[in-house]
Amino acid sequence: MGDSTKFIFTTGGVLSSLGKGLASAAIGALLESRGLRVTIQKLDPYINVDPGTMNPFQHGEVYVTDDGTETDLDLGHYERFTHASLGKDSNFTTGKIYYSVISKERRGDYLGGTIQVIPHITNEIKDSIRRVATDVDVVIVEIGGTIGDIESLPFLEAIRQFKVDQGPENVVYIHLTLVPYIPTAGELKTKPTQHSVKELQSIGIVPDILLCRTDRFLPDEIKKKIALFCNVGVEAVITAKDVDNIYEVPLVFHREGLDDQIIKKLNIWTRSPRLDAWEALIDRINSLDTKVTIAIVGKYVQLIESYKSLNEALFHGGLPHNCKVNLEFIDSEEIVDQKTCRNLLGHVDGVLVPGGFGSRGIEGKIRAVRFAREQRVPFFGICLGMHVATIEFARNVVGLKDANSAEFDKKTPHPVIYLMLEWYDEQTRTVQKRDADSDKGASMRLGAYSCTLKEETLAACAYGTPDISERHRHRYEFNNDYRQQLEDAGLIISGTSPNGELVEITEIADHPWFLGCQFHPEFKSRPMDPHPLFKAFIGAALGFSRNK
Ligand code: GLN
Repeated sequence: MGDSTKFIFTTGGVLSSLGKGLASAAIGALLESRGLRVTIQKLDPYINVDPGTMNPFQHGEVYVTDDGTETDLDLGHYERFTHASLGKDSNFTTGKIYYSVISKERRGDYLGGTIQVIPHITNEIKDSIRRVATDVDVVIVEIGGTIGDIESLPFLEAIRQFKVDQGPENVVYIHLTLVPYIPTAGELKTKPTQHSVKELQSIGIVPDILLCRTDRFLPDEIKKKIALFCNVGVEAVITAKDVDNIYEVPLVFHREGLDDQIIKKLNIWTRSPRLDAWEALIDRINSLDTKVTIAIVGKYVQLIESYKSLNEALFHGGLPHNCKVNLEFIDSEEIVDQKTCRNLLGHVDGVLVPGGFGSRGIEGKIRAVRFAREQRVPFFGICLGMHVATIEFARNVVGLKDANSAEFDKKTPHPVIYLMLEWYDEQTRTVQKRDADSDKGASMRLGAYSCTLKEETLAACAYGTPDISERHRHRYEFNNDYRQQLEDAGLIISGTSPNGELVEITEIADHPWFLGCQFHPEFKSRPMDPHPLFKAFIGAALGFSRNK
């Protein structure tokens, strides 16, 4: 850890979902705009060791980093807003912290001492924070949960000690609260903020800056009142006003003087912020003049957060075309025949089947693929979406009745997608082995893998380079025993692992745009740098809508 590394801790009060993740990401963007190198870490108080096994219905998307860590979806915001490279040390949970302490205790590392929350757990937390403090000027640490949660206490105690350890000029606490407008009273209410700050102070943390989430700019007298009751300077009370588009947040914070406050309190000098790229992005977002409608045919359609990165990547994909992307989430279980396909998909400009697990709703997804293939609607299948596209092609084009993925039907006569029992993993340079029972736990292909593209395919044309790297999270693979037969019928294998063994991208001939990929391209899309496949897909959808 560099001696001069500075730390920012963001906590949240009053209630959850105020946008602490976004706020932390936006702070990162602002500091980068001043030439500082930042990284962002999330500390999650829940007991799960990582979010990999958590239900997307409850917890939203599992975000995957290049090194294959399954993380909280807030890390997606951090990567979309900053250049920070995140990995295994960027997300810690109570489970992961305790796991490490208990392993040390079992190994005898504590020499028989009594293991306690303070200092053992808190030290472990502080060590985890220090671990990411290399080669950066500022570490931003977001504490998950809301002040007052029992689970948060060890984390809060650890960050309280952190300021004592590092010195006050090296640590800033930023607290995000809510200042609701009560229409019947015609007033903005500061009491929830006062209570939340009091709670924080009772455990020894005095916030330096308050980010007040509200639907309108806070008038001076409200800021003064909050400052007085919460023991902060009035200039450190920042309006975190609701925005139409999340990418406006850095600019709103900047106009409120947030980055000035941070660098003053951390006692650092930087160049003045260069926010032209963010301003240009917002100008573009505000002047989108065309529109396409994309159907997302999936399972986790009730909770939008389940497809967080996907939604963002589709939005990014529209930007180079000046195109607004309207999303329609369709529960695949509702697609019971081709007639429902026509009703639900007849008006859309593109169909996307996202990643997923388990057999529920699979037949509906296969019907949606068939509709897109036959009606020549642009189609994009991601991971599970590529699996169902392969099954559909095998069944309805090649005529392999009952073709399926071994994930959904272990006894299928034609497992066109299956659990590959052995292959040479070029990334780790090891032979990977699986058996029929390894369908849970550590058997996934996770993280960044290289892929080589075939010339003159949709993929090669979109990427403009033959060598790419994309992030994976799946167990099942394309079955090479069916490769020739499917290719002979018109399937194009446009991307494979460099040694050719693993099929990574498939397309079909004689269709305007039909592509399935084994990886998750959505994790690498950025607003300033939309992912090539999403850009190409939206381009094709736009072409389709114009020709309708
Ligand atoms: N369930 C499939 C597998 O495990 C696909 C996973 C995904 O879509 N991420 O291979």
